[in-house]
Amino acid sequence: MVSVLIDPKAGFCPGVSNAISKAENLLDSPGKVFSLGELVHCPEEINRLEFLGLKTISKEDIDSVSDSKILIRAHGVSPNVQHRLNKTNNEIIDATCGTVYRLQQKVKISSMQMRQSDGQVVIYGKENHPEVEGLIGYCHSKYVIAKDPEDIGNIDINSPISIFAQTTANVADFEQFVNNIYNKLLENGLEANRVQVYNTICTPMKNRVPQLRSFAKEHDVIVFVAGENSSNGNYLYSITKKDNNRAFMVSGPGQISPGWFDNVQKIGVSGGNSTPIWLLEEVADEIKRMLGRQS
Ligand code: SF4
Repeated sequence: MVSVLIDPKAGFCPGVSNAISKAENLLDSPGKVFSLGELVHCPEEINRLEFLGLKTISKEDIDSVSDSKILIRAHGVSPNVQHRLNKTNNEIIDATCGTVYRLQQKVKISSMQMRQSDGQVVIYGKENHPEVEGLIGYCHSKYVIAKDPEDIGNIDINSPISIFAQTTANVADFEQFVNNIYNKLLENGLEANRVQVYNTICTPMKNRVPQLRSFAKEHDVIVFVAGENSSNGNYLYSITKKDNNRAFMVSGPGQISPGWFDNVQKIGVSGGNSTPIWLLEEVADEIKRMLGRQS
């Protein structure tokens, strides 16, 4: 008998879950509801919310919306964008994740200290990611966005350095990045105490990786569900693939191939922190339907 198990730890992270609940509550009451940027990086979930009435706008559209409700998503926004929103006659609902909010405040305080010592803030994260764009707005000093080893060349190692991580960064990669900076200081005969490191990767993300690795090892095949544009989904899928080379990523039930399930006993269904449980259930149901059809 082939088993199909949904990963018990999959589903929205607390920040996304809170933003979705806020959107659902707003959509339940009268008035137009807009999300500033895609509320969640999952096309199926966006379709569901759009069906309920949610519309997505970009920063460029802020001034053309009036007498409505505008939701700030879990990634948060920069103070500049917040200021622009506050100047409109819309009701602003802030669904910035608490972890992101605390990171923004830390960056703000640290960057003020860095400015006094002519230092710089380094944000280990993805350029153009909305969370990182928001964080840049809190930098009152010089700053560098860095992700790859070659980006370290953009950091002025002769000045104080304050390093933060995007909340969804990979723990091991962040640690390696920090070690590379320490090594560069050593090579240049500079003191390591000029560097302050804040490991601001969020706890649900840190815990998710070891759990997902175990889940991947325990199954013959993993169907991993995530939107193509979800950095978190792509990252977690890459982790899954390392532990199970029969892992396949799909954005919904329509992309599943029956050929993946030849000679398997245990099938696992998992997803990123933007993937709703209802979508994991649809994928699991489709797999079961295919298995029934094959037998
Ligand atoms: S990944 Fe972590 S920090 Fe980001 S929204 Fe989810 S809970 Fe918040």
